[in-house]
Amino acid sequence: PELAALVAGGAVDVRDFPKPGIVFKDLMPFFGDGPRFRRVVDGIVAHYGAGSFDVVAGVEARGFVVAAAIAYATGVGVVPVRKAGKLPRPGFSASYALEYGEATLEVSEDAFVAGQRVLVVDDVLATGGTAAATMDLVERAGGVLTGFTVLMELAFLNGRERLSPRKVHALLTV
Ligand code: 5GP
Repeated sequence: PELAALVAGGAVDVRDFPKPGIVFKDLMPFFGDGPRFRRVVDGIVAHYGAGSFDVVAGVEARGFVVAAAIAYATGVGVVPVRKAGKLPRPGFSASYALEYGEATLEVSEDAFVAGQRVLVVDDVLATGGTAAATMDLVERAGGVLTGFTVLMELAFLNGRERLSPRKVHALLTV
């Protein structure tokens, strides 16, 4: 509950972004608030336990911010899961439908050592398309999923059901 309140206190509803009819949850105030951000990152680490994952994968771009903080706090590395066309070397790619539009994500072919335990993080879980594609990429690249965590879950979009039986950890569910 404390962590949920910390995330909620750093989120601002933005109407009609990026399209009319969408209420976008803007977490920039959360990221900009040092004590809030640190407390929540520490909470994620405590939830899984340092030592339970070997690397953190973050989804471009806000997932990078969370992933890097968790990685630094626990002494593991970061794997950036990137939008299409950004990786300089061959990789795996997965396309999916978004709450608004379509997207492709990519990860380098050699991003993971086979069997490496991977914690996947992003800022918001909406329809679950991004998360499903990311977890698919992690497994195709040889990683083993430890868990998937988000700062905020938009429960009315049913992303959690879509990802089942994979477990979702959300600090705040709205
Ligand atoms: P999904 O694929 O689950 O529909 O959408 C989740 C992805 O889109 C995440 O990478 C997330 O960053 C972004 N996203 C979707 N809706 C929102 C939102 O309301 N706020 C933020 N910050 N990101 C969102």
